[in-house]
Amino acid sequence: MRSTAWNDEENKVLPEMALDFMPEEQLRELQLQRLRATVKLAYEKVPLFRQRMDEKGVKPEDIKTLKDIAKVPFTMKKDLRDTYPYGLFAVDLSEVVRLHASSGTTGKPIVVGYTKEDMEVWASVIKRGLLACGFRSTDIVQNFFGYGLFTGGLGIHGGFEALGATIVPISGGNTERQVMLMKDFGVTALAGTPSYFLRIMDVAEKMGISIRDLGVKRAMFGAEPWSDGMRDYIEEKTGIKCYDIYGLSEIVGPGVGCECECRDGMHIFEDHFYPEIVDPETLEPLPDGEEGELVLSTLSKRAMPILRYRTRDITAIEKTRCKCGRTIRRIRRIGRRTDDMIILRGVNVFPSQIETALLRAEKILPNYLIVLDTKNNMDTLEVKIEVTREMMSDSMGAMEKLNKKFKQSIEQILGVSVIVTLCEPDSLPKSEGKAKRVLDNRKRM
Ligand code: ADP
Ligand code: ZN
Repeated sequence: MRSTAWNDEENKVLPEMALDFMPEEQLRELQLQRLRATVKLAYEKVPLFRQRMDEKGVKPEDIKTLKDIAKVPFTMKKDLRDTYPYGLFAVDLSEVVRLHASSGTTGKPIVVGYTKEDMEVWASVIKRGLLACGFRSTDIVQNFFGYGLFTGGLGIHGGFEALGATIVPISGGNTERQVMLMKDFGVTALAGTPSYFLRIMDVAEKMGISIRDLGVKRAMFGAEPWSDGMRDYIEEKTGIKCYDIYGLSEIVGPGVGCECECRDGMHIFEDHFYPEIVDPETLEPLPDGEEGELVLSTLSKRAMPILRYRTRDITAIEKTRCKCGRTIRRIRRIGRRTDDMIILRGVNVFPSQIETALLRAEKILPNYLIVLDTKNNMDTLEVKIEVTREMMSDSMGAMEKLNKKFKQSIEQILGVSVIVTLCEPDSLPKSEGKAKRVLDNRKRM
């Protein structure tokens, strides 16, 4: 049995790393203590939590075992919007050393705050994830997550800083410069959204630079769903080993969970975040191994404790222990959310299925956009696919054949007919952060 991290001499001396391997009984005890403290803090300091718990007749003292968490009311994104900006803070603003806000495209953003201790915990969980995936203090890391209010850039920055790596805080955008610095600075590690890295790969190719020949060994990707197919594609093309990191602003930002060298699900840093899976319709807790909506509670956050936050992310908690030996449990990688499901003429469609279909058809992953519309009172789904230079052909026949191949592959997976349109290179909107794959023009009656 491989036991990567634990056998690693460097890791043995790192006290934070040991937390990943804490005996399970001790971990559950720690979680219970912290959960009780968090519920108490939320009840005493945050009117919304107190009101909700009072309505249900639940008192902090009622949390006697971890299972009792089921008595606590859920929190939703709407609660963060309704209490904008500081309504969920449990400490005085003078104790808050950092604010972030979600990139929310509709209306007001949601605001999250951190005390100094919260910032330290955030950096330490990311550091544990980085160590688990083989990143080291000797790495020169190019961080192209967006810096600013988005938790991605500065969050990951803090983790690499705690690790002691050399950070190139380039943020997203200016793709040619990304390629140039990657080469000139001798970058060994990357962090960012995988969709933006696809764009960087494309631009490097145009510049005549082979990323494979640079010194980049590892990449930490996250903030959006990316399939195993996309991972294989990037790894085959660049030789870079890619790892997945998960998180959300409401809980802390990136670093709620992260893969290890085994890349068999993402370990949740359970000493700071308590995961549950619930049935998204009945909201009943589901046992480990079953798929449902991930619900997370913070266990150590002081500025903004969050109880039973409904993430909308669909996953399962793995039942078995990871080969790395970590006792903290894993969740399956996340491919879809309860709210990104498209219902097309009665058929449930997830954007991630289109990605799988494109990879299956041509073993490439072009830039694409899903456009939903209503034509003659019927909902249509069009997949606009940006043709890459390697796919281009002068013959109409060849392009038609390509179109047909994509269409068949998508329809086979979705089980519903779609329109495929091939577009000129560089004609679709490009993301420099999280990719936006769906444009919904449907008319709602
Ligand atoms: P927003 O996008 O609303 O501004 P966040 O940046 O906090 O807020 O986004 C969090 C969401 O991003 C998660 O709930 C999840 O849907 C998605 N996400 C983050 N990391 C991953 C990942 N590694 N794999 C899949 N989805 C992810
Ligand atoms: Zn593991």
